[in-house]
Amino acid sequence: MKIALVSSEAVPFAKTGGLGDVAGTLFHEFWLAGHEVTLFLPLYRTIRAAYGARLREACESFPVPLGSETAPCRVFSLPKLPFAPKAGRKPAHQIGRVLFIANDAFYDRDEYYTTADGAYPDNHVRFIFFCKAVLEASRRLGLSFDALHCHDWQTGLIPLMMKEWYGTSPHFAQTRTVFTIHNLGYQGLFPAETMDVIGLDRRWFGMEGLEFYGQVNFLKAGLIAADVLTTVSPTYAREILTPAGGFGLDGVLRKRSGSLYGIVNGIDYAEWTPYSDPHLPSRFSSSHLAGRAWCRRHLVKEFQLAEGLDRPLIAFVGRLADQKGVDILAEAIPEMITMGANIAIVGKGDPKLQELLLGLSRDHSGRMMLMIGFDETLAHRIYATADIFLMPSRYEPCGLGQMIAMRYGAIPVARRTGGLADTIDHGRTGFLFDGYSAASLLAGVREALTVWSDRKAWKRMIRSAMDEDFSWARSAGQYLRLYREGIL
Ligand code: ADP
Repeated sequence: MKIALVSSEAVPFAKTGGLGDVAGTLFHEFWLAGHEVTLFLPLYRTIRAAYGARLREACESFPVPLGSETAPCRVFSLPKLPFAPKAGRKPAHQIGRVLFIANDAFYDRDEYYTTADGAYPDNHVRFIFFCKAVLEASRRLGLSFDALHCHDWQTGLIPLMMKEWYGTSPHFAQTRTVFTIHNLGYQGLFPAETMDVIGLDRRWFGMEGLEFYGQVNFLKAGLIAADVLTTVSPTYAREILTPAGGFGLDGVLRKRSGSLYGIVNGIDYAEWTPYSDPHLPSRFSSSHLAGRAWCRRHLVKEFQLAEGLDRPLIAFVGRLADQKGVDILAEAIPEMITMGANIAIVGKGDPKLQELLLGLSRDHSGRMMLMIGFDETLAHRIYATADIFLMPSRYEPCGLGQMIAMRYGAIPVARRTGGLADTIDHGRTGFLFDGYSAASLLAGVREALTVWSDRKAWKRMIRSAMDEDFSWARSAGQYLRLYREGIL
């Protein structure tokens, strides 16, 4: 099949969270399976720094209209793809294409979307430009697709633009559009005047179109216009149809519920496999756990955690955002320490939450390690050493952290919501709690610690968690079926 994936981030090029993992891994999976697959990404500063010398200009520069003005677009390709081989699998043929949409005024910046001072004020223009450039670059390069798969609000305008402006173009005549909601909490809301920058007919600014309480909603464009909608777990697919989980879009989604599917993400085993992980000081597997103990020794020494080999280690790795339950996590930390646990946290995000955690780590020095920042290697080491991994999320569309944790032998204690409910088997591979409160989280931790103190039972649980199958094969197959048939 000819597949295009369009995303604002994809590993190994750019990642702030699960979206980057999913888009990059899907690309790799389809490529290995022999499909002709094209990935579109903005050419961010970090990508230019890493791959600059290897980039090749793919076509002549062209202007992209943005209201009454235009901005120049250049398109670059990367001749050799930087993917690690996967357990002997080689691509069936070489048509794996990564195309970078370049405009330095928009993308040559410190961050992808947001700085410490807040979101970039021109994010609407940056991603209108990206959406238009992707369609126009495809046309100019003569690329046609069976499926054009867009991800999250940054690419939400594409299905609508394609139908409106390229409906009769032979390039897209056979193209099925698929739009995936990775997180309904981020919709891309901008002032009404944004309609003029997009250049779509004003009739689209209404209840049945992009309008959302007087603003323009980029995600809604994807929801109304794409042929097929997906989100990243069956439970989340049900939750977003309700007022409690719909972020104001549940009505729109209910109208489209016949075309909405929940497909659980996998994790990329090329990156997340404890017996071949280059980030770890020692490797291990479910039948050889000694290496895990060695990883723990290493971490405890590096961060000088008190009695770190004897106390249970409870960890969190993730965005410090409201969604992730960082407030109840912070509230529960003193009690978890009183219970005898040490705490390890790696995260970055909301300055208020960062301050809250920094305060706690000062109060509990020696018992709590905190790294504020995005640190891939440390994240791998935490998964490989923690006994318990917390995901107290308010809501969680899929969640990768809990699956990575299980694969590395850290038992998740998580809220029963979205993909957490779909991937954790309570009492066998982890623990689920219901209420959104520090008390409920602590009840879950207490339950886990009771099992932890029974070494044999805990080891059994670790093995069950590590032996779960979270590979991409099944989910990638479901996407292919949707691309081909439009239904699951
Ligand atoms: P989300 O996409 O909502 O951020 P997920 O659980 O789906 O959450 O995915 C998070 C991914 O990002 C995981 O691979 C996790 O290890 C990684 N991650 C999140 N924060 C950090 C951080 N500060 N440092 C390193 N990796 C991180």
